[in-house]
Amino acid sequence: MTFELPALPYPETALEPFLSADTMRFHHGKHHQAYVTTLNNLVKDGPYASKSLEEIIRLSANEKDESKTPVFNNAGQHWNHSFFWQSMKPNGGGTPQGELAQRIERDFGGLDKFKDMFQSAAVGQFGSGWAWLIAEKNELKIMKSSNAMNPIAIGKQPLLTCDVWEHAYYLDYQNRRADFVRVFLDRLVNWDFAARNLR
Ligand code: FE
Repeated sequence: MTFELPALPYPETALEPFLSADTMRFHHGKHHQAYVTTLNNLVKDGPYASKSLEEIIRLSANEKDESKTPVFNNAGQHWNHSFFWQSMKPNGGGTPQGELAQRIERDFGGLDKFKDMFQSAAVGQFGSGWAWLIAEKNELKIMKSSNAMNPIAIGKQPLLTCDVWEHAYYLDYQNRRADFVRVFLDRLVNWDFAARNLR
């Protein structure tokens, strides 16, 4: 199948002043588009051509053959970015509601502690990667991953993610990844999206 860049779920300007339209234009229109274009070129006419994105990620993650690594990297990055755009919304942040709120309280000791732990994981990811909130066997956990790796490649259930590749924040925050992640948690995160993924 041919993959396509999904439209952003909000206008490029909608996350200002926290993420600029310039950041969104380059990140979505250039970086994410490049992963989609490269993935299509890599899988066309090959054994992955008939597979879904999730199938390609699971299959290529387990490939011993290093020539398949670019397939995994571009498929993972397409999936991760599609999930990341939905993990944010204009006027985001605030507090989760309902079952998600109860489980954050139970599994992390409250929203503030969750935010501190998520920020630490995001800042502690050496080099490029992602920070995740995941559900594993009825327990919420924080996970970080390198490069294109993600929870679905290893059979886990993601609820939300923050991109901590430098391209995600450098135009607006330069080297201050911790500041970007704190703004993500306080002002951008889409708790409704995370709650929908919990079901
Ligand atoms: Fe990115």
